[in-house]
Amino acid sequence: MTVTPIRLFGDPVLRTAADPVRDFDQELRGLVSDLTDTLMNANGAGLAAPQIGVSLRVFVFHVDDVVGHIVNPTLDFPDDEEQIGEEGCLSIPGLYYDTKRRQNVVAKGFNSYGDPFQLVGSGMMSRCVQHETDHLDGVIFLDRLDTDTRKRAMREIRAAEWYGQGAPVVKTSPHPLGFASGRHG
Ligand SMILES: [Zn+2]
Repeated sequence: MTVTPIRLFGDPVLRTAADPVRDFDQELRGLVSDLTDTLMNANGAGLAAPQIGVSLRVFVFHVDDVVGHIVNPTLDFPDDEEQIGEEGCLSIPGLYYDTKRRQNVVAKGFNSYGDPFQLVGSGMMSRCVQHETDHLDGVIFLDRLDTDTRKRAMREIRAAEWYGQGAPVVKTSPHPLGFASGRHG
């Protein structure tokens, strides 16, 4: 079990577009394992490789009791339906904002052995998949907020105790940061 420190908002790796995975090897499977351990430890819904400092296109998720990972994901939206709901990010601990997302998604990608598969998701799963795929493009959910909410979020981030700290905060609160309170990625 390897729990890796989670990079926080302000770390440039979170603003860097990640590289496609080319080698579906033991190293990749180790990365998926570390991501999964770190996600479960943080009680999150999703975690993308850049959030632990690895700029590769892979993320893990834990939504509706389903744990999995996707390598090199691409998203399709089967309809125009949208959802608005509270969303958070393990790289922005403790702060949640209403965020508009697509309700339904089809994510195509690969497992860590290079086998192609697709994931059809709606609701929370769809939100998580969109949030994590954004991370692979250097996009943070704050970018999806309306202007006023985004301004408020930036004020609250600057005031947060973790902001600008060199070392990641280890969250030990028994109150789950993540999926139990809803919307963590
Ligand atoms: Zn996130």
